[in-house]
Amino acid sequence: MIPVKGYAAYDATTSLREFNFERRELRPHDVLVDILFSGVCHSDIHQARDEWGGSIYPMVPGHEITGKVIRVGEHVNKFKAKDTVGVGVMVDSCRQCKPCSIFMEQYCADGMTGTYNNYERDKITMAQGGYSTQIVCDERYVYSISENLDLAGAAPLLCAGITTYSPLMFANVKKGDRVAVAGLGGLGHMAVKFAVAMGAEVTMLSTSASKAQDAKKLGAHHFVLSTDRDAMKKHHSHFDVVVDTISADHNYDVFLKLLDLQGKLLVVGLPKTEPLVDPFELIKNRRSIIGSMIGGTAETQAMLDYCAEKNIVADVEVIPMQKINEAYERMLKNDVKYRFVIDMSSLK
Ligand code: NAP
Ligand code: ZN
Ligand code: ZN
Repeated sequence: MIPVKGYAAYDATTSLREFNFERRELRPHDVLVDILFSGVCHSDIHQARDEWGGSIYPMVPGHEITGKVIRVGEHVNKFKAKDTVGVGVMVDSCRQCKPCSIFMEQYCADGMTGTYNNYERDKITMAQGGYSTQIVCDERYVYSISENLDLAGAAPLLCAGITTYSPLMFANVKKGDRVAVAGLGGLGHMAVKFAVAMGAEVTMLSTSASKAQDAKKLGAHHFVLSTDRDAMKKHHSHFDVVVDTISADHNYDVFLKLLDLQGKLLVVGLPKTEPLVDPFELIKNRRSIIGSMIGGTAETQAMLDYCAEKNIVADVEVIPMQKINEAYERMLKNDVKYRFVIDMSSLK
C-alpha cells in the first residue's frame, strides 16, 4: 500500500482536518500521480456538508487534480514517469454498458465511480479525492495535459471546464449564437471563456453587480444584473442558450423566459431544492431544459487539447491546504475569483 497525506471532512458540520490514509498498490493499468494542484469545486462543499444526502466519511474531497506521473503499472502505455496529467470527477465505471462503450462513462448504466464520496467497484474500498499528496487511478480515467498550460490554472478544467464545455458542445454553440451564462463562479467563468472561444455573443447574468468588470475581462460582451427585473425583461425571448451554473436554490422560469425560438436551458448547477418550472414558459418558443453531468473520458481529453490550443485555463487563487476551511466560507460568501486551487506542496 502507498501511504498518503490528505485533508478530510469527518462529518457534515466540523472543519476539514488532516487525514492520513493509503492508496492501493499499482495494478497493471494503474498510474500513480504526484498531486501538485487540486481545485476546490462547489460540489466539494455540497458533499462535505452532506447537502445532497448519503455522504460517506471520512471524505477526502477534490476532483480537479493536476500533477506528474511518478510511476505506472506494467501494462500502461499511455503514460510514463514525469508526464503532466490530470484526474477529474470519475476514476472508474463498468466499462461495458452502452455509455461506457462510447466513452461517455459519466452516464455509466451501473453508475460511475466518483473520485471521492464513493466506493470503488469492489464496493468495499473508499475512493478518496485530490486534497491529498498522491492518487492511484486506472489510465483510462487519467488525462494528458499539455506542458504549456499552467498546472494550477489547468486543475479546474477537470471539473468546471469539462462541465461547461460539454453542454456547450452538445448545444452546438457556434459563431454568432446568443449565449447567456447565469452565475459567475468557478463553472460560470469557464462557461464564459468557452462560449467566447466558440464565437458566441456572450451575456453574463449575475446577482453580483460588483462582477460586471470581471465578466467583461473574461470576454463577456454584455452584463445583466439578474435581480433587476426590468433588465431581465428586456432580454425575454432573446438567447439561443442559457447556461445555469447556480449553486443555490432558484427556479428555472426566470431563465426559460429568456430563451428565443427552440432555445435551450443548459442546467449544470446542483442546488438541493427542486426548482419550479412553468410548463407554459416551457412550451413557448419550444424551449427545452437539458441537464449535463461533467463529460466522458474522450470529451475530457478533447477539451484539454482544445484548452492547450487556445491557451484557456481558469482564473485561480492558489491557497495552501491549511486554508481550506476559510476557502469554503469565502466561496459561500461569493468571495473568490474564480476558483480556489490548493497547492499540494503545502502538505508534503
Ligand atoms: P461557485 O464557484 O460557488 O459559483 C456559484 C455561483 O452561483 C456564484 O458565484 C453566484 O454567481 C451564483 N449564486 C450563488 N448563490 C446564489 C443565489 N442565492 N442566487 C443566485 N445565484 C447565486 O460554484 P461552482 O463550483 O461553479 O458550482 C456551481 C454549481 O454546479 C454547484 O451546485 C455544483 O455542485 C454544480 N456542479 C455541477 C456539475 C455537473 O456535472 N453538472 C459539475 C460541477 C459542479 P453570481 O454572483 O454571479 O450570481
Ligand atoms: Zn466539481
Ligand atoms: Zn458503464
